[in-house]
Amino acid sequence: MELEDWHTHNSLCRHAIGSIEDYVEKAIKFGINLIGFSDHFPYEFLKGIEGIPYEEYAMKLNQIEPYLSTAEKLKEKFKDRIEIKIAFELDYIEHQVAAYKRHLDKYLDRLDYILGSVHILQRKGQIFAFDDNRFLKNYELYDSIAGLYLDYYHTLEKMIRSVEFDFDIISHFDLPKKFNKKPENSELIDEQVIKILELVKKKNLTMEINTSGLRKQIKEQYPSVKIIKKMHELDIPILLGSDAHHPDELGFNFNNIIKLIKEIGYDQLAYFEKRKRSFIEL
Ligand SMILES: [Zn+2]
Ligand SMILES: [Zn+2]
Repeated sequence: MELEDWHTHNSLCRHAIGSIEDYVEKAIKFGINLIGFSDHFPYEFLKGIEGIPYEEYAMKLNQIEPYLSTAEKLKEKFKDRIEIKIAFELDYIEHQVAAYKRHLDKYLDRLDYILGSVHILQRKGQIFAFDDNRFLKNYELYDSIAGLYLDYYHTLEKMIRSVEFDFDIISHFDLPKKFNKKPENSELIDEQVIKILELVKKKNLTMEINTSGLRKQIKEQYPSVKIIKKMHELDIPILLGSDAHHPDELGFNFNNIIKLIKEIGYDQLAYFEKRKRSFIEL
């Protein structure tokens, strides 16, 4: 079976273990056919981010060049043993898109794809990473857990609608479930989810099935089976990511997930090269 892991990190982002080469070697050992490096794009040039420990969230601007050139060298060095793709995971933060563009544009031609993610929310003048357990107290900024979910999905919708925010794949679609905090009333959220999925289809974007949720309190991949079924109905392309922050997490649970998506009806996975999408048979 073809195993392709499109979402991985490494020690450059300062919250993952292992060098880029460690990930390549482990991926080969695990029989993975393709590894995509998608480490977190820098934050440091953004405005008003003093409230979040951004130094622990991403590489620095002056590490972009070494990141890309190391990846390019490894791609060549290991080309007979594994396919390597080069990417970034880009965080959508409202009102900051222009700043990203300034720093990212010059590297675009060296990237195979970009993951678009929402980890950061802004509420009542506070900025926080809702998926960082050090910010769980910020959940009190909302009247309910459902309020946080809705804020997340509205932010995700803005990311997808943004003309300037340039990305290819939506990461960990239903991330707010991470800590197993379920919304009291899910009707409004379900409506918003369907609305976004229809938009994803319209924008011709790809979605990631991310297995890191299986390692978190929720013990479930992102997105849920219910959402994946809706995605299949809408014919939204997918690919797999482990979101590995340790080499041992590469390809995490992929065999089970491939079984699951086949049962749902998927028979191909998306594939990216220099930001062009094609498909491989499952
Ligand atoms: Zn990370
Ligand atoms: Zn992420």
